[in-house]
Amino acid sequence: MEDCIFCKIVRGEIPAKKVLETDEVLAFDDINPAAPVHVVVVPKKHIATHNDAADEDKRHLGALHLAAKRVAASKGLSRDGYRAVINTLPGAGQVVFHVHMHVIGGRSLGWPPG
Ligand code: AMP
Ligand code: ZN
Repeated sequence: MEDCIFCKIVRGEIPAKKVLETDEVLAFDDINPAAPVHVVVVPKKHIATHNDAADEDKRHLGALHLAAKRVAASKGLSRDGYRAVINTLPGAGQVVFHVHMHVIGGRSLGWPPG
């Protein structure tokens, strides 16, 4: 997608602090962190929202989950825990319309979220 901010990061047109990169996904530090660790994991394929994921996107979504696990491990969160979140649509706080998983941790996280 031409002017999608996360597609631009994937293409290297906007700088980001990369945490992990595979053939399928890119993970980078969130520019406005909500916790000591806050990483955004995106599929390299543009999928606007979780609602738009199709059966043929299984590989991309699976890669998202496994990358989140690896990111959490690399940030030292495997033992104490972390949250992996996909906000879907504005009602859930989605502002960037390229599906992404937030990996958040490094502090105690309340439940339910706001
Ligand atoms: P969401 O509200 O689920 O759509 O999350 C979008 C996230 O992307 C927010 O946490 C933003 O802080 C983050 N974000 C937006 N632009 C950038 C950027 N250029 N680099 C890193 N993170 C970004
Ligand atoms: Zn995109």
